[in-house]
Amino acid sequence: MSKLDENIAKAEDFLARFREHDVLNHINGESVPAVSGERFETISPIDLKPIAKVALGRAADVDLAAKAAKEAFPAWAAMPGDARKKLLHKIADAIVARAEEIAFVECMDTGQSLKFMSKAALRGAENFRFFADRAPEARDGKTLRGGNQINMTTRVPIGPVGIITPWNTPFMLSTWKIAPALAAGCTVVHKPAEFSPLTARLLIEIAEEAGLPKGVWNLVNGFGEDAGKALTEHPAIKAIGFVGESRTGSMIMKQGAETLKRVHFELGGKNPVIVFADADLERAADAAVFMIYSLNGERCTSSSRLLVEESIYDSFTAKVAERAKRIKIGHPLDPETVVGPLIHPVHEKKVLEYIGIGQQEGATLAAGGTKFDGPGGGCYVSPTLFTGANNGMRIAQEEIFGPVLTAIPFKDEAEALALANDVRYGLAGYLWTSDVTRAFRFTDHLEAGMIWVNSENVRHLPAPFGGVKNSGIGRDGGDWSFDFYMETKNVAFVSSAHAIQRLGA
Ligand code: NAD
Repeated sequence: MSKLDENIAKAEDFLARFREHDVLNHINGESVPAVSGERFETISPIDLKPIAKVALGRAADVDLAAKAAKEAFPAWAAMPGDARKKLLHKIADAIVARAEEIAFVECMDTGQSLKFMSKAALRGAENFRFFADRAPEARDGKTLRGGNQINMTTRVPIGPVGIITPWNTPFMLSTWKIAPALAAGCTVVHKPAEFSPLTARLLIEIAEEAGLPKGVWNLVNGFGEDAGKALTEHPAIKAIGFVGESRTGSMIMKQGAETLKRVHFELGGKNPVIVFADADLERAADAAVFMIYSLNGERCTSSSRLLVEESIYDSFTAKVAERAKRIKIGHPLDPETVVGPLIHPVHEKKVLEYIGIGQQEGATLAAGGTKFDGPGGGCYVSPTLFTGANNGMRIAQEEIFGPVLTAIPFKDEAEALALANDVRYGLAGYLWTSDVTRAFRFTDHLEAGMIWVNSENVRHLPAPFGGVKNSGIGRDGGDWSFDFYMETKNVAFVSSAHAIQRLGA
């Protein structure tokens, strides 16, 4: 039996429960069908066959979940930070214990390859440990002296929050948003993406088995325009942590206006990787290729625009094209696979349409550009590179969210910076140069929330994560997450009986 066949058999064991029983919502510690009894189907992008029927939550389900989160909030918020820390570590331990199951289910549900997903559960556990360790200090504040006054700040959890996540790496992203909310003392209603709902179900089970009190974390499956919208409008929900498309962020801002929702948005990107001729070009090529073709290119921080200094443009793009052509496309559970099928036929169509648009715009296809006939006949698209592009093209301006890279030449630093910034997004940027002074100057002016110099995206959890412009509002990571999930309160004490104006005395 090949390793792939072995993995498929193992995945089938993990999926058997989903094939046999509906994926239910989870409200106030109970697994429940949708109030309406409706269900929707989730398919595998590998063969487009249904994997599971999922409870189709709507406003009534969200209402029950929000009420449960509201009821659970006072006790959870009052729990000492040390106790929350212990509990969140237990959740992390339980995630690690089921890491293989999580990885295999994620691959089958999303099409992401095991090569990258095998670590997703461990990174999810790390997210829990990171925020667990900070839970005891989450409420700490500052002391600010002024005259005869001492101001003391403290932080309190904001209340029940809504977390809405996308389909690309659902397990990791759910932990990234939910762990800090719980560590801060908030209760949660989670609405995962309808294209990949399975690992969110595993995650909440794991959390409750580890001892999380009922109602602290609730799960409602359903569509964005329905369950998602209801969550953003619910008066008991005090804040929305959202990861997804920029235009959905705009909708959520409108939907949340009536109830004055606090919002935190991690949105789309069209991130430049800028390569100067003085860079270590071998490493720059490794990083550029990795950042666009790993995770099927369905990655918010993917380096989807390759800006290359004119003198090395042809040789550098030839190197990238060669690599792109050699990347293995295949079944996500094949240990050799780099690029698996895209999430859904709807998304595959969008990516292929962009490839058509690039050709109509006059860019040259230097690699890929076609649907790939992969195992199962699912949504495979070959790693694609466009050369001869310019920044005005739609393939250089719009987020494609697939394995499609657009390469544009620049003649000098000023032009590189202008091209890099001439886009409505500003999530991440990657700069390759051996000139440290230039690196300082360039990064100072590059419009992005996160910039890596001579590196691919390597996350350091205490560092801030988030974007500028249309890529987001707010930062996650370190203490920034707590600032979002908590309110800062100031109490002023006086140290002497100062004069108070005696109006009407
Ligand atoms: P999406 O915006 O279509 O959906 C994200 C979530 O929002 C889903 O759960 C969906 O059901 C829900 N939703 C949709 N409409 C809604 C509405 N009106 N009200 C409330 N909720 C609604 O995004 P997607 O296609 O699932 O994910 C891909 C996008 O996510 C890309 O743009 C990508 O860049 C972005 N993303 C960003 C980050 C980041 O950290 N910045 C990380 C991963 C993905």
